[in-house]
Formats: sequence, C-alpha cells, structure tokens
Amino acid sequence: MCWHILGAGSLGSLWATRLARAGLPACLLLRDDTRLAAYTARGGLTLNENGERHTFAVAAQAVSAAQPIERLLVACKAYDAERAVAAIAHRLTDKADVLLLQNGLGSQEAVAAMLPQARCIFVSSTEGAYRDQDWSVVFAGQGLNWLGDATQSLAPSWLNELEQAGIAHQWTSSILERLWRKLALNCAINPLTVLHQCRNGALQAHAEEVTALCAELGSVLRCCGQAGAAEGLLEQVQQVITATAANYSSMYQDVAQGRRTEISYLLGHVCATARALDCPAPGLNRLRLRLIEELKARGLPSD
Ligand code: NAP
Repeated sequence: MCWHILGAGSLGSLWATRLARAGLPACLLLRDDTRLAAYTARGGLTLNENGERHTFAVAAQAVSAAQPIERLLVACKAYDAERAVAAIAHRLTDKADVLLLQNGLGSQEAVAAMLPQARCIFVSSTEGAYRDQDWSVVFAGQGLNWLGDATQSLAPSWLNELEQAGIAHQWTSSILERLWRKLALNCAINPLTVLHQCRNGALQAHAEEVTALCAELGSVLRCCGQAGAAEGLLEQVQQVITATAANYSSMYQDVAQGRRTEISYLLGHVCATARALDCPAPGLNRLRLRLIEELKARGLPSD
C-alpha cells in the first residue's frame, strides 16, 4: 500500500526518503502542477544524514490527481493541515488511515472531525529535521515518533513498515497525554526564548517565571483530565533547559527567520482550553498577549 505524503517539507521529506530507501512505495502530494514540475526537474528528494547525501526518486503527484488514498501522512504545519487535507479528502477511501504529524493540539481534532470515516492516528515526534535547500532535508536530531489513536487502542498492522524503514517509533495508548506533555514543555520554554531573545539555557536566569508558568500549566492539565502530563513537569522543563542550553528553540528560530509560528496550537490552545474550563491561567494569558505583541511588532502573523 502506498504512503501518500502531504507536505514535502522537513518532516514529510524525512519520512518519504526513509520509506523510499527501504523500497516501500511512497508518493509526495504537492500543492500544484508548478511544484510538481519543479520537483520532476530536480529528479528526486535528498536525505542528508550524518553528512552523507543520498537522493531518492520518490514518486510525486499534485493534490489534484485522482488516485485513491488509503494511507496518508499529513506533514504540513498545524495551521495548514485542515485546509490541505480538505483538498484531498474526496480521495480518501473508506478504510483510510491518516497520520497527523502536527505539533501542539487543535489541528488534529479539526482534521479528525472533517474525516469521520477515516482512522486518524496522532503522532508526536521528537525527531529533528530542516531543509537545507528545496527538495533536500537534513536529519538533524535522532528521536522517536510516538503514535496513537485517541479513539481505539489497537495498533495498526503497518507499524512493521516503519521498522523496515528505520523510522524510530512506539505505539502508545496515551497519545493525548504525550501531546499535552510536549505542548506544556513547549509553552514553558519557547515563548520566553522569543520574548527574552535568548538561547534555552539563558532561561536559567528567569527561573521564577518558568516555575510560575509550570505551576499554571500543571493546573490547566489537571483541569482538562491530563493529570499524567502534569507530573514532574517543572523538573523536566529544567532538565530540557539544561540539556539544550546552547540551542535556540524552534519558535525562536521561526521568529528569527520571519516564519509564521504555530502559536495558536501551542500557547493559544492551552489558553483557550483554560478559558473553556474556567481554569484560572493569568500568567499564561499574559504570556500569550506579550508574544502576540512581539509577533505583531515583527510583522508576523499572530495566529
Ligand atoms: P515545513 O518544513 O514547513 O513543511 C511543511 C510542508 O507542508 C511544506 O513543504 C509546505 O509546502 C507543505 N504544505 C503546506 N500546505 C500545503 C498544501 N495545501 N498542499 C500541499 N503541501 C502543503 O514543516 P515541518 O518542519 O516539516 O513541520 C511539520 C509539522 O511537524 C509541524 O507541526 C511541526 O511543528 C512538526 N514538527 C517538526 C519537526 C522538525 O524538526 N521539523 C519536529 C517535530 C515536529 P511549501 O514548501 O510549498 O510551503
């Protein structure tokens, strides 16, 4: 069965090249005929891993093609996922599996609501990748892909294909807890690195602010039934700050490079959840407003 990959960006290319390397059928779904022509002229997708570059002739088609889709990997940004899936929804078969790779929360539920007939599998990835040029991806950080289905716990039979492709993964019956935990870690670190214009490690000088945010994040998580994701949050945030002291956060990098952030699916989602549940989150709301002001001041979208 073919892996259709919607979004030939960093993670989409990382998955597509590893599937192709293992001889598994994969097909990129590109925006339009212009992107398809550009890809065809380039002749393949390049994976740069440990300094070695290999190009794979991954098949590609425009989203407007007609071939039915049984397995879809959605690798767009959270703010593009719903619109991108809507454009190919009519091509999904009744038995389709849809893997959603988006960071944060909110976009997965929106896509799942649009596709009641499909099995939507949420993925939380700790792998790192970036594009060094068009149609070329650098595998920058080994990690793990947690996969799970919020509605049924049975693992799909195709997980062995990920094994075959060397895509590190783990099936979990608590994918929402994983996604909430990653979201909370992100909210405690990333916005502050943008506001203080610093590397992760410099947040050690803002320990009080980080501690207060973790306390509020913990209470929002407990309010929304994700107490497991709240356990030991501050300790893990401190560990991440220390272990990644020299790094710039993904949100810092997005802002520095003038790219749209996924704020609505990260800090925005936490604040919206707190509001819906009448859970007090004054510090998180202030942080969100400060971040929005900063994005606006830089001329970037604030949603
Ligand atoms: P990315 O490099 O920006 O790639 C997104 C791709 O989606 C782009 O190639 C974009 O096309 C394509 N796209 C958007 N709308 C489309 C549409 N309507 N039809 C077809 N293609 C469309 O993003 P990414 O870094 O791979 O991130 C994807 C998700 O994974 C995000 O939620 C991110 O937070 C998460 N994530 C990323 C990493 C990482 O290391 N990169 C790690 C963990 C999680 P264009 O190039 O034409 O704009």
